[in-house]
Amino acid sequence: MTAQLIDGKVIAENVRKEVAEEIAKMVAAGKPRPGLATVLVGDRVDSATYVRSKQKACAELGIESYGHQLPADASQKEVEELVKKLSDDPKVNGILVQLPLPSHLDEEKVLQTIAIEKDVDGFHPINIGRLAQKGRDPLFVPCTPYGCIYLLEQAGVKIDGANAVVLGRSNIVGMPAALLLIGKNATVTVCHSHTRDIPGVVRQADILIAAIGKTEMVRGDWIKPGAAIIDVGINSKPDPTKSKGYRLVGDVNFEEAKEVAGWITPVPGGVGPMTIAMLMKNTLRAAQIQNP
Ligand code: NDP
Repeated sequence: MTAQLIDGKVIAENVRKEVAEEIAKMVAAGKPRPGLATVLVGDRVDSATYVRSKQKACAELGIESYGHQLPADASQKEVEELVKKLSDDPKVNGILVQLPLPSHLDEEKVLQTIAIEKDVDGFHPINIGRLAQKGRDPLFVPCTPYGCIYLLEQAGVKIDGANAVVLGRSNIVGMPAALLLIGKNATVTVCHSHTRDIPGVVRQADILIAAIGKTEMVRGDWIKPGAAIIDVGINSKPDPTKSKGYRLVGDVNFEEAKEVAGWITPVPGGVGPMTIAMLMKNTLRAAQIQNP
């Protein structure tokens, strides 16, 4: 292996420790504990698991969590009223609406209802709009892309002036990751399902963020020697040697890429642990803004 491994578990643990220490200081100074409200609509098993992990992290770091669950057939009005109530509640510093919402609900309208200073997921249209504009800073940055950039910075990868390629243009990962890289002075190409010659584009990348959800699509011979690879993808690959019958792999063929890249994140243990760590960091920031 020539690439340096970027260990998301260790980096995420350090972020969590820093957040816990800051919270302990706030509480010792007589300030209220930060509070995070989660809103789960419906009964998707994966969404319920994510919400539980976020609540567990809150408990570990000293953040109060307030869980709210609505049935899958909740109306737009019911969801918006709950979010408005939480926006007005001084105990709640951050509001996380677990996505995706059931398809009959208007996601953008729900996200718009979150008070912007409590938008710890960073998906409020104003925060995303500011991310897209030069010289305007969002209050919060979406957690997974924030984690990707944080990993690059912690690894000492130079972003300024680099050629960066982002595979995927989703609202939650690809697009905000590209905007963050532009904000840090990278020259960015975003690839999606209509892009021609993706291998040729990836070969130009000093930095690659892969977020497409396709098992090991990026091959070792697509990688520019010395490039930094951040693999966001989480895919299950059949593996009869595992008790579950599968294992988790990324969008990048790790075994091939690690022989060419300069830095690489593993899956699991790379970007995955960063998402919740950055949510905790955003919740702390929200509390600091609201209780200066
Ligand atoms: P989406 O399905 O929302 O978006 C996928 C993007 O990839 C789209 O822009 C799509 O293009 C593009 N794409 C799909 N197939 C191809 C292809 N063959 N060639 C080129 N582009 C393609 O996914 P997400 O952004 O939500 O997630 C991406 C991956 O990241 C998933 O594996 C997900 O599990 C993982 N993930 C991991 C997180 C973590 O914490 N580590 C958090 C969030 C996601 P188009 O726009 O044209 O359709």
